[in-house]
Amino acid sequence: MASLRELWEAAARAGMPVGDWVCQEEAKRTATDTEQLRRRMRGMWRIFHESAAEGSADADKTPSGLTGGDAQRMTRYTPQFLGEAAWRAATNGMAVSEANAKMRRIVACPTAGSCGILPAVLLTLESRLDVPEEDFIRALFTAGAVGDIIAENAMIAGAVGGCQAECGTAIAMAAAAGVEVCGGTTGQMDDALALGLKNVLGLVCDPIGGLVEVPCVKRNAFHAVHALVAIELALAGVHSVVPGDEVIGAMAQIGRMIPKSLRERSEAGLATTPTGCVYARKIQGRRARHPLGGNDAEPSDV
Ligand code: SF4
Repeated sequence: MASLRELWEAAARAGMPVGDWVCQEEAKRTATDTEQLRRRMRGMWRIFHESAAEGSADADKTPSGLTGGDAQRMTRYTPQFLGEAAWRAATNGMAVSEANAKMRRIVACPTAGSCGILPAVLLTLESRLDVPEEDFIRALFTAGAVGDIIAENAMIAGAVGGCQAECGTAIAMAAAAGVEVCGGTTGQMDDALALGLKNVLGLVCDPIGGLVEVPCVKRNAFHAVHALVAIELALAGVHSVVPGDEVIGAMAQIGRMIPKSLRERSEAGLATTPTGCVYARKIQGRRARHPLGGNDAEPSDV
């Protein structure tokens, strides 16, 4: 599918929910049956649950000492200002991202760096809505199609287009999928993903020490809440002046203009702050001692 507009129109012509239409077309393309594809997607949905639960339960730091234990800290905390949904989304976004930093099993949706956003949003909706699991499975097909269209027309890797490409795409996927689960229209799905993606245009990728930890883990928490806001705005009838396809085009243009030093090279931004450099030297030192990339650090070592 070349564009969001074509996706919305094709589903409407077929008289099907977007996710069902995507599943049907994927079955045709891969000469398999829709039930098999749904089974595979149910497996991913299970991994969403597992990675969120594992990340929330694990209080340990990562080997680098940069992250870890914050999702668990959030589960023990009673929020003073956030509502239950925003608190849950932030906690799960961080939990799945911490699970990734600890090399646990996650679903890259669309990438490992942004893996917490889609699960956090959908698990939050699951906790609030009385809808069958199949609605979430359907929404995962929609999320996948949105990610495919962005990959086709722009980029989804921080190394190519900055963090707007990774986290921005995850926000767009979560926003469209979330609106579908809530029973919104394709117009509202387009609005939600456009609003969410617009708001992170230009976001750079500057991870400390080249690890997907800082700013990535906490960024997943913030952006899960961000996607929830996009869903709420769209469901309320707030319209994006610029349609989704054009926002994706803008993201592609901006991605090409972001300096290479701010595209996952860790040569600028947070990565080269005095603190970032201290961590980077420690991480490099360990890599030198462990040519295969092993890491013998204790959290307090950094
Ligand atoms: S900062 Fe870079 S590595 Fe981290 S999530 Fe964003 S794109 Fe991925």
